[in-house]
Amino acid sequence: MIYLILLLFVLALIFFWQSNRQQKAAGLPGGRVIYTDTDGWGKVEKPLYYASLRLTGKPDYLIEKNGQIIPVEVKSGRAPEAPYDSHIFQLASYCLLVEKTYKKRPPYGIIHYENRDFAVDYTRELESALIELLADMREDDARRNVHRSHEQASRCKRCGYQAVCEEKLA
Ligand code: SF4
Repeated sequence: MIYLILLLFVLALIFFWQSNRQQKAAGLPGGRVIYTDTDGWGKVEKPLYYASLRLTGKPDYLIEKNGQIIPVEVKSGRAPEAPYDSHIFQLASYCLLVEKTYKKRPPYGIIHYENRDFAVDYTRELESALIELLADMREDDARRNVHRSHEQASRCKRCGYQAVCEEKLA
């Protein structure tokens, strides 16, 4: 029994180390676990828009706290070890939209999973990575052939483009 516990402990350490390493390689902030009080969350009714980047989006909630405005993105399902890159970029785009709309730069945003909340710092590095990503996406918009970028059949199963996609896996 003790060996099994030790084995599970070592496996947990390896998974934790691996997810940390992937996060660092991507250069994205991993997010820190926080406790948030949902009483102060205000629902966002209309999407925010920033014309220069042709960026639009609607955070699920905004929190006003000590003169700052913090965007919150709510995800269904249990929290991963660290927020996914796509969730971090989505939150970063809300931080950018909040800054441009309210002329106040949020120091961080919050990703709310079913069982845990993460605060993700809105750093200059994250902002630059987001702007680069948006530029890449605009370039891809003009391409005639864009190939699948993953090997996950489960992702295709949930995809809204499945009916027209020629490279779907499921
Ligand atoms: S169905 Fe096509 S577009 Fe959708 S996730 Fe799969 S490969 Fe990507």
